[in-house]
Amino acid sequence: MAVLFPAPRTATGEDTAELHLHGSIAVVDSVLGVLAAMPGMQLAEPGAFTRRAFANGRLDLVQVEGLADLMTATTDAQRRQALAHTSRDFSAKVERWRATLITAMANSTALLDFSDEPDFDGRADDRQLAAVCCEIDAEVADAARGARIRDGLTVALIGSPNVGKSSVLNAMAGRDAAIVSSIPGTTRDVIEADLNLAGVLVTLLDTAGDRATADPLEQQGIERARARAATADLVIHIVDQDEPGDDTRCVVINKIDLRGGVAGTNGSRHYLSTVTGDGIAAFRQWLTRWAHQVTRPGDPPLVARRRQVDALVDCVTALRVSTHERDPVLKAEALRSAAHSLGRLTGNIGVEDVLDQLFASFCIGK
Ligand code: GDP
Repeated sequence: MAVLFPAPRTATGEDTAELHLHGSIAVVDSVLGVLAAMPGMQLAEPGAFTRRAFANGRLDLVQVEGLADLMTATTDAQRRQALAHTSRDFSAKVERWRATLITAMANSTALLDFSDEPDFDGRADDRQLAAVCCEIDAEVADAARGARIRDGLTVALIGSPNVGKSSVLNAMAGRDAAIVSSIPGTTRDVIEADLNLAGVLVTLLDTAGDRATADPLEQQGIERARARAATADLVIHIVDQDEPGDDTRCVVINKIDLRGGVAGTNGSRHYLSTVTGDGIAAFRQWLTRWAHQVTRPGDPPLVARRRQVDALVDCVTALRVSTHERDPVLKAEALRSAAHSLGRLTGNIGVEDVLDQLFASFCIGK
C-alpha cells in the first residue's frame, strides 16, 4: 500500500510517500533495491527528515532541540518538557518578541532615512522593547529549572567515613552501586546513582568520607567530594549519631537499629537504618517532594539549554542598549544585534522581514 502526503502540510513540508510492505527483510530489501535503481533516489541520513522540516520552516531550532530531547528522555518530567519545546508555544512567544523588534527596527531605520518625519516618536517602541526585556529576563531566570529537569538534580551525600553514605546510596538506588565496607576510606571516587523520583531525575553522589588522612589517593577523593558537594543542588549530611545541629541542613541519621531510635522524618532530619530498611521509604518520599518543589515539572520552563540562554542574554543585553540609546544609528545597530540573537535562538531571521514591515507601515510613495 502506498500513501501519498501532498505538500505543504507534511512533517517535512515536502511531498511525502509511505510504502507499507509485508515486513520481512527480503521484501523490504527487494523494494529498496528497486527504489535504489530509480534516478535521484538516496537513502535518508540520520535526522534527514527533521533537517528538511527545519530547512522548510516546519520546525525552528528550539523545536528541533526539543525533538532531540524527546528522543533521549528517560523520565516523565524530561518527556513533558521536551514535548513542550516541540510545540509552537515557545516559537510563538519568540515570534511575538521578534515582531516587536522588527517594528522598532523598521521605525528607527525609517527615522534614519527620513529624519524629517515629524510624527515619529520612538518612546512607544522603547516601552514595548522594555516589556520584551522583562519577559526574556523571566525566561532566563527560569532556565536553571529547565536545565535541572533536563539534566537532573544532583544530591551529594557527605559525612565522616563509615557513617553509611554508600549504604544510603545503595538503599535508595535499590542496587549495589557503591562498595559498602567497614574499612574507613573505601570510597575514593565519586559514585553516582540515577533515581527516577516520580518522574524527576535525581543523581545521588556518594563521596569519600571527610577526614584527615595521609593517603594521597584518599586525599584526592576527599577533594573531589568537596568539589562535587559545592556544585550539588542539595547536600545531605549523613551521621550515625543523633547530635543536635543546624536545622537548615538536611541530615540523615543512619544506623537507628543500633540505638533503638524511631524511624521517620522530622523537618529536615531523617532517621533511618539501611540494614532494616526502616525510614528509607519516608526519606525517599521527602526527597521526591523536594525534587518536585525545585523542578515543578508540571509547568516546564521554555528554555533549558545553554545555547538558548546565551542567545536570550545576548538579545536582552542588546535590547537594553537600544532602549537607552538616543542616537538613531547606534539604536538601529543595537536592535539589529538583538534581532540577530533571537534569530540565532530559533535559527532564522531575515532582513527581508524588516524591509517588508518598513514598506507596509510607512507611506513611502507619499
Ligand atoms: P560510608 O563509609 O559512609 O560509605 O559507610 P558504608 O556504607 O560503607 O558503611 C559502613 C559500615 O556501616 C558498613 O559495615 C555497613 O554495613 C554499616 N552500616 C551501614 N548502614 C548501617 C545501618 O543502618 N545499621 C547498621 N547496624 N550498620 C550499618
